[in-house]
Amino acid sequence: MDARAPNQTEDSVLEAIDLNIYYGSFLAVKNVSIKIARNQITSFIGPSGCGKSTLLRCFNRLNDLIESFHIKGQVYHDNQDLYSRHVDPVLVRRRIGMVFQKPNPFPKSIYDNVAYGPRINGFKGNLDELVEQSLRQAVLWDEVKDKLKQSGTALSGGQQQRLCIARAIAVQPDVILMDEPCAALDPISTLKIEELMNDLKQRYSIVIVTHNMQQASRVSDKTAFFNVEPTDKGKVGYLVEYDDTVNIFTNPRETYTRDYIAGRFG
Ligand code: ADP
Repeated sequence: MDARAPNQTEDSVLEAIDLNIYYGSFLAVKNVSIKIARNQITSFIGPSGCGKSTLLRCFNRLNDLIESFHIKGQVYHDNQDLYSRHVDPVLVRRRIGMVFQKPNPFPKSIYDNVAYGPRINGFKGNLDELVEQSLRQAVLWDEVKDKLKQSGTALSGGQQQRLCIARAIAVQPDVILMDEPCAALDPISTLKIEELMNDLKQRYSIVIVTHNMQQASRVSDKTAFFNVEPTDKGKVGYLVEYDDTVNIFTNPRETYTRDYIAGRFG
């Protein structure tokens, strides 16, 4: 039986409720409740160590690969409790894809990078069409259509990252999580990815962790600002405020956010 997340509406695609995230006995992220808007771009910002990546990875159960990791609280995707005993994490990762900081194409051809996910999922349709459509959506098709058999690792960094986005798209996910996807890219490649994200939100809901405040203000509709507070067991991350990006950057409710935005923490 699917548990129902209280108050989850059609406008939200993911929801964390009273979520506490632990590595062993260390509480890394404290008591986060947040609804992620559907077909929008949400940025997670805040100082290093405040748990942005940890929270992001909870949304597709990527932290499960870490032995000491466990949670208290709930995480829902479309009213399904992602941490229910009956849920297969592999299926979760198919519906909720991830793009990492460092482009990580497989050492395979461009075509095979994109075809990989559909193939292991037993895709029965026209694979050539799916590969083309995914590369088009990732705004990479024109640059690679004549060299689909060449290795994905031979592309430039920005192209590799768009290839990784095409690979994520090819399994037709609902949500794409991006953990600092432009951190390893030059400014022009970064702009291309930002434009691409804006196109992609028509079809997908996107959550991006970024250290770059300007990027958050440029690309995202919603912004969640996190901070850390010291405890006797170390620093624990918490959600300070979550609102439309324009409000976070022009008229935040919390003094902490205002100071951070103004660069008063360096
Ligand atoms: P951010 O993305 O905001 O920089 P992280 O999510 O990487 O923050 O880290 C949040 C906290 O969790 C930090 O204190 C970090 O040291 C800790 N942490 C992250 N990954 C692990 C891990 N695999 N094992 C133990 N602690 C971890």
